[in-house]
Amino acid sequence: METVLLVGAWLLAAALAALAWRQHRALAALTRRYDQERAENQALAGRLEQLQAEAGAQRAALIENMGEGVLLLDRDGRVELFNRAFAQMFQVRDDLRGRPVLEALRSHELDEVVRRTRETGQVLGAELELRSPEPRSLQINAALHGAGAARGMILVFHDLTRLRRLENLRKEFVANVSHELRTPLSLIKGYAETLLDHPPHDSEQARRFLQIIVRHADRLTYLIEDLLTLSSLESGTALLNPTTVALRGLVARAFEDLAARAAERGVTLVNETPEDLEAYADADRVLQVLFNLLDNAIKYGRPQGRVVVGGRVTPEDRVEMWVRDDGPGLPREALGRVFERFYRVDRNRSREQGGTGLGLAIVKHIVQSHGGEVRVESEPGQGATFYFTLPRRSDQAGVRATEALSARPAAVPRRSPGSSGQ
Ligand code: ADP
Repeated sequence: METVLLVGAWLLAAALAALAWRQHRALAALTRRYDQERAENQALAGRLEQLQAEAGAQRAALIENMGEGVLLLDRDGRVELFNRAFAQMFQVRDDLRGRPVLEALRSHELDEVVRRTRETGQVLGAELELRSPEPRSLQINAALHGAGAARGMILVFHDLTRLRRLENLRKEFVANVSHELRTPLSLIKGYAETLLDHPPHDSEQARRFLQIIVRHADRLTYLIEDLLTLSSLESGTALLNPTTVALRGLVARAFEDLAARAAERGVTLVNETPEDLEAYADADRVLQVLFNLLDNAIKYGRPQGRVVVGGRVTPEDRVEMWVRDDGPGLPREALGRVFERFYRVDRNRSREQGGTGLGLAIVKHIVQSHGGEVRVESEPGQGATFYFTLPRRSDQAGVRATEALSARPAAVPRRSPGSSGQ
């Protein structure tokens, strides 16, 4: 009996020990899993934090590098953040954070936009004119963001200054063109009406009136030709067809085209361009540049004078050409402006000579589209020299080249020889 009890007790103890051992193992496994999961959770939390930090840094970099100005205000209307573009637009040098908009930027208009946004939730397309440090036109889009107590405001600023400037230039251009067109048209109409209403008995006088009509019709034609040339150059539809061009030969061609006009004014044309000087350029366009510069040198230079064309390779390895006359030259204040559209030193003289005021603007456009530069040197009474540069080789060319245009018709010089205002 005792033995049975002993065995029973031993079996019980063994069963309990086995149970305890199994529980211990289960607990150990559980602990391991727990530790593992904790480690995984920690790793996940770390990764999440890293991702959040990366997203934050990306957002900050995005905002910082946006072309638009960005200004973030907190719920009290104080500056919380602004980007580089904003700092440039408002010429901000100090740290504005924590300061109210009006105090920080001293703009009542901007303060007003902030007030309206707070009232309405969003303001789109408000415009702001900054007068200092330099005049700027800004468009503002503003909206509230966040919720509840964290409600702040985001303002985005687009710089419209360039657009406005272009709009003004376009308006000015249209006004100039209209004026230029109206003058010859009203003269043509006036003389034609006189011929109709009061036909002159004297045939010589009738002939004179008709000559005036033809001269002004010619002016209209030149003007329209020049306007079309300029607009095709500006719109980029006139792509260049550059090749290696021997410049001396091109100058000789321009001389041929202008021989009659030069002879009329007794002007001697001299070609000093070196035999071997070559440029990588559109031959028709360079011919047009030479034609316009020579036409001016003959028109505005000295009667019986001398016009010299020359060229060289510059130390920067570019080609430089020049057209020099020995006429009255240009006043100092005109030097920086002669390449502007419709700029003339002597409006009446230019008109009398059949000028449109666009010849040098066309020259500048053509040269710049070759990646070159134009300039003029002149001392009053000492003649004028117009310079332009061109690339020498294809690898230097800032040329908008295209093969597709080889079929383009040759450029027509804007004023055909012999058609100057007679
Ligand atoms: P335009 O059709 O009037 O000749 P341009 O654009 O060719 O127009 O020239 C602009 C103005 O520059 C001319 O009206 C003239 O006053 C001045 N100009 C151009 N070339 C010369 C020159 N060689 N000598 C003096 N004045 C010049």
